[in-house]
Amino acid sequence: MNSAAVTGPRILFRQIRQVMAGTGDAELRLQKIVRLIASNMIAEVCSCYLMRAGEMLELFATEGLKQEAIHNTRLRVGEGLIGDIAAHSRPLNLSDAQSHPQFAYRPETGEEVYHSLLGAPILRGGRVIGVLAVQNRTRRQYTEEEVEALQTVAMVVAELVSSEEMISSKELLDTAGNATKPHRLTGRPLADGLASGYAILHEPHIVVQRTISENSGEEQLRLEKAILALQDAIDEMLVDPEGILTDESRDIFEAYKMFAHDKSWLKKLETAVDSGLTSEAAIKRVQDDTRARMRKITDPYIRERLSDLDDLANRLYLHLDGIAVPDRQHLDQDTVVVARNMGAAELLDYDKDRLKGVVLVEGTRNSHVAIVARSIGIPVLGQCTEISNIIEDGDFILVDAENAQVFVRPGDDVIQTFNRSIRHREERQAKYAALRDKKAISKDGQKVMLSMNAGLLIDLDNFAVAGAEGIGLFRTELQFMVRSQMPKVDEQTSLYSRVLDKADGAPVVFRTLDVGGDKALPYLEMKEEENPALGWRAIRIGLDRPALLKAQLRAMVRAAKGRELSLMFPMVAEVSEFVEAKSLLLKEVERESRREGGGPTSVKVGTMIEVPSIVWQLPQLLSEADFVSVGSNDLMQFFFAVDRGNSMVTDRYDMLSPSFLTLLRYIAKECNRTETPLSLCGDIAGRPLEALALIGLGFRHLSMSIEGLGPVKEMIRTTDISKLENFVQKLCSNSAHSVREQLRAFAKDHGTVI
Ligand code: PEP
Ligand code: MG
Repeated sequence: MNSAAVTGPRILFRQIRQVMAGTGDAELRLQKIVRLIASNMIAEVCSCYLMRAGEMLELFATEGLKQEAIHNTRLRVGEGLIGDIAAHSRPLNLSDAQSHPQFAYRPETGEEVYHSLLGAPILRGGRVIGVLAVQNRTRRQYTEEEVEALQTVAMVVAELVSSEEMISSKELLDTAGNATKPHRLTGRPLADGLASGYAILHEPHIVVQRTISENSGEEQLRLEKAILALQDAIDEMLVDPEGILTDESRDIFEAYKMFAHDKSWLKKLETAVDSGLTSEAAIKRVQDDTRARMRKITDPYIRERLSDLDDLANRLYLHLDGIAVPDRQHLDQDTVVVARNMGAAELLDYDKDRLKGVVLVEGTRNSHVAIVARSIGIPVLGQCTEISNIIEDGDFILVDAENAQVFVRPGDDVIQTFNRSIRHREERQAKYAALRDKKAISKDGQKVMLSMNAGLLIDLDNFAVAGAEGIGLFRTELQFMVRSQMPKVDEQTSLYSRVLDKADGAPVVFRTLDVGGDKALPYLEMKEEENPALGWRAIRIGLDRPALLKAQLRAMVRAAKGRELSLMFPMVAEVSEFVEAKSLLLKEVERESRREGGGPTSVKVGTMIEVPSIVWQLPQLLSEADFVSVGSNDLMQFFFAVDRGNSMVTDRYDMLSPSFLTLLRYIAKECNRTETPLSLCGDIAGRPLEALALIGLGFRHLSMSIEGLGPVKEMIRTTDISKLENFVQKLCSNSAHSVREQLRAFAKDHGTVI
């Protein structure tokens, strides 16, 4: 056993390479390899178990155990010592294996004479695909170097059993195929929908074409060059002269920097190359090790750091010469992108005909990538923390953002069920499409106006087919967020004017910049705030930095030249703010009207109702505003004091609670009394049950994301509003946490489709 420790596995690798380069039956070659390992490591036994379907480890090759045990000895994952190594994905080093409580005796192997055992998992992409074990008669503890050596050798074996050549061999087909077993993972839906396709790893995983290097000296130089390039690249990321790094990305880069200079990480890489591995294999070897450690750690902070280290390995890999970055604009099959996180612009880098879905380890509903994905109708599942441990480039994957789950390498039955869900969804969509040109008129003949929310020009492409009467909320900040520089007045003018062109005369309500809080502009310097949702954001920035707001208002006024202009301000907390903002607008209107061609034909100025305080000034507000729109996402957040982005509390209170309904009822009543146009443009407008409640409270204009339009229209067309109103009025005086069930029962009793 000392030879491996003294010479490292280099000689062994050379011999293995010869076997791998040779021809002949795949299993025979595996047999030769275990013989080589046994002799090189001075072990009486070397056995290779490979994973079969159903989490079963099967003995595929052995030197030292009885040959008749091959293909007969099987252990479930978790069973016996071999199963234990697979279950915990870590080596086991025992001087007296038989006295271990997990020991499972298999008489057909004849292993009773061997006392010591050293086993290591055979990993591929962090997954266990087999176990490699050596055994000796004497009771001996294997050294650290021997443990390391066996792990490295296990990696070479992993390459062999997963190589095309081996997989296409009959005997190993099952093993290699089934080793990559199906997984169902859960996450948080960030953009709804269903999709299937082949995985592309946004941060590419390491592909090892060759495990064993030709020349360790040259390989060492190749690795060194890549390390230096990586360190430089990270240092550069941190220079950030324009101050565009967010705190989060700075933290991540700082961690990268620390690890990129971390002596023990670098040493591990060097040792692996020194032992005869190629740089790719060395990086992967160290990464697999990190992943195996990561799985065992529950402390979120340490896991996060290990996951940084994992990312760093991917980055280092990309710095090796000869690695080609894939062309994402031209994909040849339906694709699901898997990333830790990504920017909106990066999403748009992918071939839009082939990009079907996205799975993120992180991500929130308000992350830019989620916003853009919703606009272009790409389902996104976020916070799918386990995905990077499971996924391999090219794996088939099903994204079910409707039920917060993904299936990786699904079986046929899952695929069939999923395809059925896709068909149902398509049928539903066809049903809604048929409603497109029908009006949202209730059974008792009352009309409800349904509009669409938008934020990117891409959204407007869908306007014509959405069946909406207008754009009830155009979130202008999205255009700002997906850029790297502040758009100039002319650019903004051209954008808003294209929005109006595309709306083709249908009403559009622009909302002025709503940034701050969770919506950061990379180029707008913002101080760190303890409570950003309650901080310097939206209209507050607009009034404190009037140049920014004025530029935007000017662009809107110019864009609407010769047409109607409707715009509203976000996060207004008191009437005086509205009055101040409105006077800025009127100045711009006046200025433009003096220019050639004049200004808009009419200007309507409104405000969002998002901060509870403004509700207590409604009479004054309504005498100043041409219309109002309830931003229920923020109004809920401030009404109940629950952070809308914090999953620990977001579901704590129900929008369908009597208190919130009473607040909304008051707003609707005041607007109806003063005949001020009122709409609601928060997420709840697009949910049929919630929309039912809103209509019962007196709302007659709802603006929602495109997917909500069909279901809400169907609900309205199957509702009798006169009966509903009485019912919802009564619910307001209920004292339950939520009146969801009562509303559901009402819908059921009255044939309302929700
Ligand atoms: C809201 O708060 O309800 C709203 C529509 O605005 P946003 O979601 O953009 O904050
Ligand atoms: Mg809001």
